Amino acid sequence: MASDGPPVYDAKVHPAPPPPPSYEFNTQYSEPISGGAVVVTQQPMLVISNFNTASPVQCQCMYCRNYIVTNVRYEVGLITWFAAGFICLIGCGIFAWIPCLINDMKNVVHTCPNCGKVNGIYNRGL
Ligand SMILES: [Zn+2]
Repeated sequence: MASDGPPVYDAKVHPAPPPPPSYEFNTQYSEPISGGAVVVTQQPMLVISNFNTASPVQCQCMYCRNYIVTNVRYEVGLITWFAAGFICLIGCGIFAWIPCLINDMKNVVHTCPNCGKVNGIYNRGL
């Protein structure tokens, strides 16, 4: 009633959209921070560790909940057996044990140094 502003805007482009709701979320989020109180909320530590590596992984143990750097252990896996089988196929069966000595051909088992339980396995190949 006081001004004819809104009709002018309508004629110019299109009806003005309501203010985006994301702005309200931003103000609500910043309020506890600017209040000065240190609010430590419980953050569910969603630790998705990538165990697909042969080097120790820093993660939270699934069993004892401690933050750990995993111990790695090598175990004979599928690739090891395939390599041994291939050596046998080419007639050098005497040397079929050699892949069992090569860590790069073995699976890597990540274990917790505290509780000793297996947290992840890196299966090589296939
Ligand atoms: Zn543990």
